[in-house]
Amino acid sequence: MTAPHAPITGTGTDQDPVTIFGPDFPFPYDDWLRHPAGLGQIPEASHGSEVAIIGAGMAGMVAAYELMRLGLKPVLYESRRLGGRLHSEPFKGAQGVVAELGGMRFPLSSTSFYHYLNRYGLEIRPFPNPLSAAASSTVVDLEGVPVYIESSADLPPLLKEVGAAWQEALESEASLSAMQAAIRRRDVATIKRIWNDLVPTWDDRTFYGFIANSPAFTRHSFRHLEAFGQVGFGTGGWDTDFPNSMLEILRVIYTNCDDDQYFVVGGVEQVPRRMWQDQPEKLAHWPAGTSLEKLHHAAPRPAAAKIERSSDDGIRVTDIWGDQRDYRAVLVTCQSWLLTTNINCDESLFSQKLWMALDRTRYMQSAKTFVMVDRPFWKDKDPQTGRDVMSMTLTDRLTRGTYLFDLGDDKPGVICLSYSWMSDALKMLPLPVEKRVRLALDALQKIYPDLDIRRHIIGDPITVSWEDDPNFLGAFKGALPGHYRYNRRMYCHFVQRDMPAAQRGIFMAGDDIGWIPGWVEGAVQTSLNAVWGIVNHFGGSTHADNPGPGDRFDELAPLELPD
Ligand SMILES: Cc1cc2nc3c(=O)[nH]c(=O)nc-3n(C[C@H](O)[C@H](O)[C@H](O)COP(=O)(O)OP(=O)(O)OC[C@H]3O[C@@H](n4cnc5c(N)ncnc54)[C@H](O)[C@@H]3O)c2cc1C
Repeated sequence: MTAPHAPITGTGTDQDPVTIFGPDFPFPYDDWLRHPAGLGQIPEASHGSEVAIIGAGMAGMVAAYELMRLGLKPVLYESRRLGGRLHSEPFKGAQGVVAELGGMRFPLSSTSFYHYLNRYGLEIRPFPNPLSAAASSTVVDLEGVPVYIESSADLPPLLKEVGAAWQEALESEASLSAMQAAIRRRDVATIKRIWNDLVPTWDDRTFYGFIANSPAFTRHSFRHLEAFGQVGFGTGGWDTDFPNSMLEILRVIYTNCDDDQYFVVGGVEQVPRRMWQDQPEKLAHWPAGTSLEKLHHAAPRPAAAKIERSSDDGIRVTDIWGDQRDYRAVLVTCQSWLLTTNINCDESLFSQKLWMALDRTRYMQSAKTFVMVDRPFWKDKDPQTGRDVMSMTLTDRLTRGTYLFDLGDDKPGVICLSYSWMSDALKMLPLPVEKRVRLALDALQKIYPDLDIRRHIIGDPITVSWEDDPNFLGAFKGALPGHYRYNRRMYCHFVQRDMPAAQRGIFMAGDDIGWIPGWVEGAVQTSLNAVWGIVNHFGGSTHADNPGPGDRFDELAPLELPD
């Protein structure tokens, strides 16, 4: 299936889908991408000029692809592998069976991301989230009591009350329906009115504070709050986000990030890899058949080790082997902490206020452990009860979320035995893969005492702890209360007109620069901001009929809070 076509700005109706449109900067990135006039033009004199792009994840790849189409020559540096946190690790000995170590479920509201995914005709299927049709059944196991659920009608009263309380809290404290109606209509004035009222209040408060103080929850017991933390909404338990700024949670809910999610058959990493090989039909300057792969002689440059100013108009990038190249523009897409740990970045390239924001970024930890199994055996029925022998499982035990991937009755299946964040992920950090698998299987054995999962496992298990990798240092940003100003500084950096000359020419993109960390759409949208900034930096412009994010910045700019 393909993603819905979002409306061209101003023609939206209440029937249009909810998309990741704002609320902080409601610019229609999807319309900008689709417009026949294209993203802009670069003066011919600059055609073929090199632009350094540090990091070949989705943000780096989108920028490289679009800048190539505009006639510039992107030079990608990558320290690990193409795709970055879109990492689909193949199980050995099987064709097309992967463990999605990073991004794995993609809401249809990610319309700019789907713009690229759809281009390659990749097959997507509904993600087997709790209580979704794709999961067939769900087991919620709290305090040692597993409850088998096939539809929301089977939910025990406690979980029904928790679900109703959450909806009520969102309506009464955060005008959920009004905001979603405005997002559907792409009604910028209403989005701004609702959001700008909420930002000063909720920037100071945690997700936990929102729940614990909402009358929708205070009329119930602590048990409700606890169950919400374990079972949460949409994709599973969210108590690991309880310390985060409530603004971050509201963005996810408003823009349906946690709804209508799909996985990519064969792995999402195919998207950046196809972009690397893609030979776009319409491109300035370059001959037909040009691709990023060809411009790079089939491999990106190695890791960037140093970034410094080389002249008034030049920025020098030195790679880990000492090769030095000068560029008029550099785009950094790796996680921002790496600018202080892995890359020797000249301090004068950013203002001290921006350094404060880059360094205060807080990353969440995340661990996942996968096994491949001989077949989707979980669909077998228990002869006594008639139920699935195993289900998508949410629990307060150490596995937290167990997801089952059915690739067809004639194919191996994949089980994500455990997907955990923060302290649950830290419990796994020092442990080797075998121990992680054993602990997960032991926990699941307590929930499914009559099922022997072990005898279905084939191939080697696969695990990841993102915080353990020096190329990332964490899974994704999780903004804390008081971080709105920092987010704003990073996000707005692509509009450089008011900056001192010494700070211009270096750009940033990636999901940690954006407002919805942990979602690839943020990586794409911030990358498109950087494309606009770089076009502008080279003296280029957008088409009058298709203004870009920087052209509409003054009208759409995120609310500024006093320092
Ligand atoms: C556990 C997990 C689960 C997720 N789940 C989802 C999901 O379900 N849905 C969703 O939409 N999104 C999800 N995401 C988020 C999504 O994966 C990211 O938003 C997206 O992949 C980020 O792309 P990026 O280009 O911003 O960063 P990255 O992919 O991190 O790319 C940056 C690149 O920079 C490279 N690099 C680092 N240092 C250097 C250096 N010195 N020189 C050169 N290169 C360097 C890195 O190796 C990396 O390849 C998840 C992420 C994680 C980690």
